[in-house]
Amino acid sequence: MTLSCCGLGVATARAIAIGSAFLLDRGPLAIAPRSVDPSEVFDEIQRLEEAITAAQRALRTVRDQVPRSTPVKVTEFIDSHLLMLEDHALVDPARALIREQYFSAEWALEHHRVRLVKVFEDMEDPYLRSRRDDVDHVVQHILGFLLGGRTSDAEADADLSGCIVIAHDISPADTVVLRHRGVAAFVTEYGGPMSHTAILARSLNIPAVMGARNVTSYFRQGETVVVDAEKGIVMADVDAVILDHYRRRMRVLEERRARLQRLVSEPSISLDGISVSLMANLELPEDTLAARANGATGVGLYRTEFLYMNRDTLPDEEEHLAAYLEVIRGLAGIPVTIRTLDLGVDKQVDSDSHFCPPVCNPALGLRAIRLCLKEPELFRPQLRAILRASAFGPVRLMVPMLSSLQELGSVLAIIEQIRRELEAEGIAFDPDMPVGGMIEVPAAALSAKAFARRLDFLSIGTNDLIQYTLAIDRIDDTVSYLYDPLHPAILRLIRMTIEAGHARRVPVSMCGEMAGNPRCVPLLLGLGLRELSMQPGSLLEIKEIVRGSNIARLEHAARELFARMDDEDPERLAEAIERLGS
Ligand code: PEP
Ligand code: MG
Repeated sequence: MTLSCCGLGVATARAIAIGSAFLLDRGPLAIAPRSVDPSEVFDEIQRLEEAITAAQRALRTVRDQVPRSTPVKVTEFIDSHLLMLEDHALVDPARALIREQYFSAEWALEHHRVRLVKVFEDMEDPYLRSRRDDVDHVVQHILGFLLGGRTSDAEADADLSGCIVIAHDISPADTVVLRHRGVAAFVTEYGGPMSHTAILARSLNIPAVMGARNVTSYFRQGETVVVDAEKGIVMADVDAVILDHYRRRMRVLEERRARLQRLVSEPSISLDGISVSLMANLELPEDTLAARANGATGVGLYRTEFLYMNRDTLPDEEEHLAAYLEVIRGLAGIPVTIRTLDLGVDKQVDSDSHFCPPVCNPALGLRAIRLCLKEPELFRPQLRAILRASAFGPVRLMVPMLSSLQELGSVLAIIEQIRRELEAEGIAFDPDMPVGGMIEVPAAALSAKAFARRLDFLSIGTNDLIQYTLAIDRIDDTVSYLYDPLHPAILRLIRMTIEAGHARRVPVSMCGEMAGNPRCVPLLLGLGLRELSMQPGSLLEIKEIVRGSNIARLEHAARELFARMDDEDPERLAEAIERLGS
């Protein structure tokens, strides 16, 4: 058995892919200071102009190749970068540095880039501040050409169908573009299993290995690569024995998918007759197809961040409404839970946003509902559109990242005010549209009783709940080994939330990734959860577990487990939890 190259990262999905390597962006460029002879100034400026022209040409080609089904925001994002490339003000200072101080073209551009980035970072307005990455991205794009035609993520002008894309980092928006370009899988050096890119990859059925350090230096363009997204392994130059093993594994997974498909129209009812609602998480309006194809009985989480990404303007009320109506139509009568904007951390309005300066801590900052309450012009059009959409089908509104009752009070007051406005304007909406909140901050779980008193439903967001409870950044692969959904502290907060909901007769669901994790579902059923929302690809596997479970027995086992939780060795605890389902 031979294998000349192997990378290890974090697993993201139960899937395997084999294809040829396509190396994209290799990460930030290193530029050394270099000056030129005064006689070379003309040539140096010429090099800069040629790099700008090449960057424009490359970006135009990408824009022309974006498939029509790609969200309009992606093309708008490319257009906004093209506009920047055409704007003289962006590179004029770099030209001056070459002319007056004899900087080399790349050093002049890099010098100017650092200054520009700082100007944007110092801006007070958070939206303008967030444009920093756009400027950075555009200048890096030109630098790439100055250094010999380097391409970056979505900008590679190549046929990617069936390829394994290997990159330093891939943004959530680029993940969508890669799906449309038919990639078989991707591997990144950066990112954890709960990052938005990883969640999106699962949702879009793209096998991915993330956080595989230095992977862009190991692999060669075009060589055959095996991606084992189940185990987080990526290999190249494998011999026939290994290839054969993985081809067999792919067939086994394929057969299992076909078997599960037979469950689509079977009810999600346990052996002892308890019904469990299995719902889908949606990233994009077009995901309604996958939700229905996998038998979802509703949408427990429709993430609306895509409406805001990669663009210069905010979506207005009509644009929101159009997106929600598309989802409502696509779901043909099953209910949808629309989550209000959760921008922040890895869900930024731009790409390449993971590189936050060390002073800032976006996960604890102005994200989600905090940002919405601070910027009403961001929030109100969305709330109005959700309420208006409720006249066209069963809609629930869900608020992310609640941490205090004062915050909840402010949100409910704005919703009430908008209800009155719509009434006065004679615009239809459902006056009984349920309003719920995500329990994804430990403070909210610990105060779940109080939240349940004021909300129509609660939904446990384990991706963030785990991040905040265990103090581990969910997008940082260096600490992803600590990301443990079965940690006793997490299980207690989940149980506390479920009990608070039950005591108030308020439905409690779960929409974090844990809800689609076969290892965890038996315990969640034993703890009393009866609504689970997950990426569409997991629905049938979880339905199989529900149909094979005796929930009364699971409840009994969960009680016993909690009783000995503090005395149990953590490994044995995890084993005991996994045994619940067998
Ligand atoms: C969560 O935090 O569990 C969740 C569902 O929200 P997101 O992953 O979008 O932060
Ligand atoms: Mg969350």
